[in-house]
Amino acid sequence: MSDIQLLPATLNFLQRDHGQFINGEACPTSGTERIVVINPATEQSIGSVASATADQINTAVNAARQCFRSVWADFNPYARGLLLNRLADLIEANGEELAQLETLESGKNIVLSRLFVARQSALCLRYFAGWTTKISGQTLPSCFPSMQGEQYSAMTRREPVGVVAAIIPWNFSVMIACWKLAAALACGCTVVLKPSEFTPLALLRLVELIQEAGFPDGAVNLVNGAGDTGRQLIEHPSISKVSFTGSVATGHKVNLTAAARMTRCTLELGGKNTAALLKDADIDRAVGGLLQTGYIHQGQVCAAPERVLVHSSRLTELTDKLGAALAATPMGSPLNENMFFGPLSNRPHYDKVCHYLTIASRESRILSGGERQEGPGYYIKPAIVQAFSGTETLMQEETFGPILSFMAYEEEDELLDLINNTPFGLGTSLWTNNLSATMRMIPKIESGTVWVNMHTMVDPAVPFGGVKQSGMGREFGSAAIDEYTELKSVILCY
Ligand code: NDP
Repeated sequence: MSDIQLLPATLNFLQRDHGQFINGEACPTSGTERIVVINPATEQSIGSVASATADQINTAVNAARQCFRSVWADFNPYARGLLLNRLADLIEANGEELAQLETLESGKNIVLSRLFVARQSALCLRYFAGWTTKISGQTLPSCFPSMQGEQYSAMTRREPVGVVAAIIPWNFSVMIACWKLAAALACGCTVVLKPSEFTPLALLRLVELIQEAGFPDGAVNLVNGAGDTGRQLIEHPSISKVSFTGSVATGHKVNLTAAARMTRCTLELGGKNTAALLKDADIDRAVGGLLQTGYIHQGQVCAAPERVLVHSSRLTELTDKLGAALAATPMGSPLNENMFFGPLSNRPHYDKVCHYLTIASRESRILSGGERQEGPGYYIKPAIVQAFSGTETLMQEETFGPILSFMAYEEEDELLDLINNTPFGLGTSLWTNNLSATMRMIPKIESGTVWVNMHTMVDPAVPFGGVKQSGMGREFGSAAIDEYTELKSVILCY
């Protein structure tokens, strides 16, 4: 089977003039520079967007501030939930168009785009729609002594923080934007989105659907540009919170910029996540799991396992079976539903992954894969690398590519040392049915999430985020409500 047919709606959208989305309106043409959007499967341009000027960034934040003050913070919470549900319906109804746009600009296979763009985004919006009517404070017993018969009462209120700068990476643009939008809008915050310069198109379509759902003008705005646009946004005095997903290096810069203004900041950064197979691990299950989580979307997933620690008695069985599974898994056009692997998402990232493969051939042993495919497109065959000390570059640095490093261990203490011997701590998985070992190890693992017999699964009901260099703060669950609200104390005398 060959590529799917693009929808007329997708083709029409690509032909339009694109720029910013401010105060309920598309602002297509102004802006001195244009960003060319490249399809990583063909290396051909599929469109361009105007970069936001400093004036437009200012206008977008002011529109969000105005909407926050005059409409959205006081909007009936139940009605806020209805709008979030309506947006989820519209995302599902227009899911194919959104998925095609995301595939064209990111190289993600169309089957994955459908799953993550439509289903996961809608799921997250519906989960937070349910929160709108449940955001509450507490009543507190006062301990002030009464001097002259007066009494005291105290309570807390959870109030929206204000305008949120949501800075989005290129790997899952619509889904990650919806994670941030769902929680922020549920709490009564308004948002200015900054897409990655590599993937602005699907998000421009998303903000049109937000408008169609009936959100007030200015509730969600979007400005395009490179990293400096993100910096200018964070520096704006009316931004009350920054929600960032991306690399550790950029996360450091974002944190410093936000701290200079004493602005709240949530950072969901990368990692060097470990999958640890204990002696009893079900190898067939682990092979399926690593294929689906380590190599999916060419490994360009922040929580994907990149280091696999295997009991020495099982290493060869695992790498042999995984090698056979990878060899049988097709790589090709992301618009072909029968393909599993596609191209890396953009040229700079492809060059970075190629560089890591060169390092791997020097410091470790490449057991299979890693070859670059000739012709247009940023294709690299998924690689299995064997490491021997745990200090190799590929055991320490995030490649964000289709390269997993495998290393043998003997004892549980050694395994724990290896898991924690990294500056990161986003996600770790244990593959075993040994309940005692699992429960013994979980508290000792320095990681925001520990999965057992699975990896990378994120659920809007379960907090998600990292420790150490992998970030600060949490997405999802009640933790996200805390991140987008300020706690106000009220003390009354009567
Ligand atoms: P970045 O972390 O640099 O970018 C993430 C977002 O931040 C983008 O929207 C980017 O804009 C923006 N940005 C860049 N600089 C600044 C700044 N100074 N202030 C505010 N915003 C800024 O990721 P890249 O896209 O450059 O990818 C680099 C590496 O990051 C990848 O190779 C990969 O290893 C990792 N990565 C990790 C992700 C994760 O989920 N943990 C996601 C994506 C990448 P723009 O893209 O326009 O520069």
